[in-house]
Amino acid sequence: MASYNYNFSAEDAAKLCELARIKNNPQHRPYVCLWVTNGVVCNLHFQASEFPDHLRSAHGVVGADKASLTCCWVNCFTEMPKESVMRHINEKHLEWRYTCPTCNEQFTRTYTMQNHIARKHSGN
Ligand SMILES: [Zn+2]
Ligand SMILES: [Zn+2]
Ligand SMILES: [Zn+2]
Repeated sequence: MASYNYNFSAEDAAKLCELARIKNNPQHRPYVCLWVTNGVVCNLHFQASEFPDHLRSAHGVVGADKASLTCCWVNCFTEMPKESVMRHINEKHLEWRYTCPTCNEQFTRTYTMQNHIARKHSGN
């Protein structure tokens, strides 16, 4: 009985599940910034939640206006209104997915997910 290894408790299992959940959650997945400045790829690793700040401070993507901006992501160089750049990068380059907290279905846009929640999971 003394030699039996019983260190792996239910609490440990719960922790492992939590880690797996975080890892599989695209909001927590580490991403790499491939924005090109003067021929140099940024290559910075970031969490999804940090990305808007990074784009703003490191690459000067500022504000939600209609001024046109070129997406400098590797091999992209698409011109678009500045207000669309964040969404464009999320969808085209990061392949960000929003997961319904109720049924785990995945969506590419928050408003699609919100519509889904309103239609399928609303209480009334
Ligand atoms: Zn960057
Ligand atoms: Zn792009
Ligand atoms: Zn759902």
